[in-house]
Amino acid sequence: MPYIKIDEMRCKGCGLCTIACPKKLVSVSDTPNSMGFTVAVFSGSEQCTGCTLCAEMCPDVAISVFKE
Ligand code: SF4
Ligand code: SF4
Repeated sequence: MPYIKIDEMRCKGCGLCTIACPKKLVSVSDTPNSMGFTVAVFSGSEQCTGCTLCAEMCPDVAISVFKE
């Protein structure tokens, strides 16, 4: 089942991936990481298709897509 991983040390919380996901499976957390950024989080939904749109949109290359 496809899923994504978000590298919290790369993510700057810009929110572009939240717009990119056609399934709305990514959102920006209210809680800042150790760098002070509110980072993107994946809902873990079974609806992820592995389309990679979220990863392609991320300017900081913070998202990896797995199609297992
Ligand atoms: S791979 Fe596609 S469906 Fe899965 S979270 Fe990213 S944009 Fe959404
Ligand atoms: S597009 Fe990248 S940097 Fe922006 S919120 Fe999403 S994962 Fe973070």
